[in-house]
Amino acid sequence: MSRVRTAPAIQAGAVPTDVIWAFRDRLHRVGEHRLWQGTADKGTTPVLYVDYVRYPARRVAWVLHHGTTPVGLIKADCGTPLCVHGPHLTDERSRQADQVRYAATIHGITLAGPCANGAHDLADYGYARTDGDVGCRGCDNARRRTTRHDHEGASTA
Ligand SMILES: [Zn+2]
Ligand SMILES: [Zn+2]
Repeated sequence: MSRVRTAPAIQAGAVPTDVIWAFRDRLHRVGEHRLWQGTADKGTTPVLYVDYVRYPARRVAWVLHHGTTPVGLIKADCGTPLCVHGPHLTDERSRQADQVRYAATIHGITLAGPCANGAHDLADYGYARTDGDVGCRGCDNARRRTTRHDHEGASTA
């Protein structure tokens, strides 16, 4: 196993043919889903091994379906564990696009321009809260990091 290495990030239009075949070989169709029959890291992250190279299966699925290079973490939006069906997958960019659409449709909010702290672009980080206020994931993340830090400091004191 020591020979196994992780593949460089797969780019759109550059998936090796034997990887495509190996990927398709491990799909199991259940209803509208395509469940992963291959290896899964921690039981939740589908991975593909071809010639001792490790490929994240959802990334392969994304590139084959969308023809674009995914941004950030890819999740199965259908909530079905190990589903790697292209149309069911979301990445950072598509999830943010959904937030922008949701804010506009449900709350009439246009997510654009700087957040309340002026630190982030709402087009990239904004979301509409259920009460119609605008939130910022960038600020949320910064706050979460700070909170955790304070907590650690308190526990070691
Ligand atoms: Zn699915
Ligand atoms: Zn912000």
